[in-house]
Amino acid sequence: MRCSTCAGEAIVDQPYRGAHLCDAHFRASVEERVRQEFHRQLPRFGGGTIAVALSGGKDSAVALALSERYFRRRPNVRLVALSVDEGVRDYRSRTLAAATTLAERLGVEHRVVRAAEELGTTTDRASADLPGTVPCSFCGVWRRQLLNRAARDAGADVLVLGFNLDDLAQTVLMNLVRGDLDRFVRMAPHRTRQPGLIPRIAPLASVPEREVFLYAHLATLPFDHGECPHAERASRNLFREVVWQLEEQLPGTRQSLLRTHDRLVDRWLRTDDLVAPARCRACGEPAAGDLCRACEYLRAVRHAGEGVTAP
Ligand code: SF4
Ligand SMILES: [Zn+2]
Ligand SMILES: [Zn+2]
Repeated sequence: MRCSTCAGEAIVDQPYRGAHLCDAHFRASVEERVRQEFHRQLPRFGGGTIAVALSGGKDSAVALALSERYFRRRPNVRLVALSVDEGVRDYRSRTLAAATTLAERLGVEHRVVRAAEELGTTTDRASADLPGTVPCSFCGVWRRQLLNRAARDAGADVLVLGFNLDDLAQTVLMNLVRGDLDRFVRMAPHRTRQPGLIPRIAPLASVPEREVFLYAHLATLPFDHGECPHAERASRNLFREVVWQLEEQLPGTRQSLLRTHDRLVDRWLRTDDLVAPARCRACGEPAAGDLCRACEYLRAVRHAGEGVTAP
């Protein structure tokens, strides 16, 4: 199979746009899409600090490498990579090692925050304390909050997340199926600043997961392939399967889901129509009620019997 752009041999097909690309044109196409997303999601960015969430997996590795590539000629932009150690044995230590290697290779400042120190518990311990709860529920809430705090501590104006096209399409569908309009409107990439939250952007939004993997591989980025031992209980797995099946039968489904989200938010829904977040009485972070969800989970853990020091 020949590349759609040159006479070279194609290494990847893109059924959603009817193209086949060689190594060089594939990498250029990913870099160009990410450049366009930075341009679209960060309009009029005059300079400042950009934090990049770096788990050590392929998505965040590509997000950091392309952020560094995009901003390297902007002396008024400072990059800082942020990792969260949720405390998942035999998994997170390996991804953090890959994250450290990549940040060093790119010469980017790297900070690691640990749930054990910040929250007084870990995902492994909490999953034993709360056997009836899917670990990703509290782990995801805690990670988001720790990243937000770390980004604020680093003086960040914006937080880059490694969500790819598949991740975002799954999230759109999940929020629609659950009827969760609040999360539907507030999902990254953020167009407006929400009180207490560092705006999050997703420059890989138009790159499918398998292309992110291929790019990371071709660019020889250090990343860890491991899967979290708690991941099999995540409800996202069902949505991953559904979106994948739809995309197989109807190429372009993922882009359609994202377009649907953007149009609904643009035409019908506005962030400021939703309940403005209050402040959590325990930790001061944005909260829908009296306590934020992170503190609610900490309270549940404490009630489950372990001596956790909640904030
Ligand atoms: S898969 Fe779930 S439990 Fe594991 S690190 Fe991710 S959010 Fe946490
Ligand atoms: Zn080519
Ligand atoms: Zn709180």
